[in-house]
Amino acid sequence: MDHFPIFVRTRGQRVCLAGGGDAALAKLRLLMKTEARLLVLAADPAPGIEAWAAEGLLDLVRREVRPGDARGCVLAYAAHEDEEADDRALRIMAADGALVNVVDDLDRSRFITPAIVDRSPVVVAIGTEGAAPVLARRIKADLEERLPATLGRLTEAARGFRARAEKLRHGAPRRRFWADWFRADGPRASDAGADLDRALGALLDRHLSAAPREGHVDFVGAGPGDPELLTLKARAALDRADVVIHDRLIAPAILELARREATLVEAGKEGFGPSMAQGDINALMIRHARKGRHVVRLKSGDPSVFGRLDEETEALDVEGISFAVIPGITAASAAAAGIGRSLTRRGRNVEARFLTGHDMKGFADQDWNALARPGSVAAIYMGKRAARWMQGRLLMHSADPATPVTVVENASRPETRTVAATLSSLADAVEGLDGPAVILLGLAPRDAAAVTLPAGALRQESAR
Ligand code: SAH
Repeated sequence: MDHFPIFVRTRGQRVCLAGGGDAALAKLRLLMKTEARLLVLAADPAPGIEAWAAEGLLDLVRREVRPGDARGCVLAYAAHEDEEADDRALRIMAADGALVNVVDDLDRSRFITPAIVDRSPVVVAIGTEGAAPVLARRIKADLEERLPATLGRLTEAARGFRARAEKLRHGAPRRRFWADWFRADGPRASDAGADLDRALGALLDRHLSAAPREGHVDFVGAGPGDPELLTLKARAALDRADVVIHDRLIAPAILELARREATLVEAGKEGFGPSMAQGDINALMIRHARKGRHVVRLKSGDPSVFGRLDEETEALDVEGISFAVIPGITAASAAAAGIGRSLTRRGRNVEARFLTGHDMKGFADQDWNALARPGSVAAIYMGKRAARWMQGRLLMHSADPATPVTVVENASRPETRTVAATLSSLADAVEGLDGPAVILLGLAPRDAAAVTLPAGALRQESAR
């Protein structure tokens, strides 16, 4: 270890920076997260620095650094990005007794600034002794993802509650209390916008009275299949889950992200196939939540899009079980991204519709006149079986047979397939597709070379 990591007290201390360009701006942005009194010495400061000075966020002296400027400073930065100017600043500030960093110059620096993950008061510093800044940034990004943005608030609330938590016996009881706070009750209270101190009080009462933990259900959008399209909140919920009740469409790579101890239950539901009855799914959620478990109800895409979300939340409401909804990326968004097209476009469509091919009564009726209008865009979910029927309805309502139609199967997954067609070949376009597919009515793929033509179109082609 060439450098020893420490945390330097900066509250109320002077930190001095010589230079006024981009490097200075970047360092100042970081330093302004501290409670230090910042002194900037720059003959020609960037407008951003001027603005901060005007706001009173730092003291600005419009000249080069002189002997005595850095006296009493705990830390000093030479940030001219110019070797000669930095050399001079380094000599002057070091002579004043300051610990000096020359920006981007490891050899001449007496200290270096790590990559920082700031969940204040939780702060993680990452350093590679200058050997691999790119790696440091990657580790930082990984940690940013793992440590929820609310961690700072939860920790701050915990700090204020430490004394009261001493009512619990030292050792395991107190450890269990804090584990519950950081893993379950804290994030939940924070997400719900509740008062954290009050939530801590309620948690303490529960632990003191040894009352059972209250269950909770998170409805989590799993997105279209690519695990990288999960939200950070979805990942955090999976990480906390005791039980995960998931639809059949959920990719195994996503289920793997659930907490290792979590029980996984598949709740079926796939098109017309065999499925667990809605009532049974509701009963399952309720049973687990009643036992005080943290249930994640994992739904493909976004839970609020053709996901029977209301039926499930209403069942929980009746039982008085708390729940939250974590949105996800819906299949229509993933399909549009897959073909490089926008669902809306100025001058073309002022609305984009999400349709289902069938509903409880069979093939779903739609506003065919609106859909048949030139320029209209719709994402059709569960539309494979209804494709031929919808095609007929649209043509009957005078839609242009040449209207572009793109079918995206397994959007966002490695096995994705795109079929470019027109309304006249729509029924053929879905032939032979066995994965989940979205039909994008009114959109053609941007890169026509990368797609499959519908089976019917090929037949027509060779018949000509
Ligand atoms: N809540 C989900 C939709 C559930 S309905 C969402 O927001 O995406 C199931 C239908 O969604 C499937 O029949 C299919 O039309 C569509 N679908 C789900 N995942 C898909 C994917 N990866 N690619 C294409 N379509 C998908």
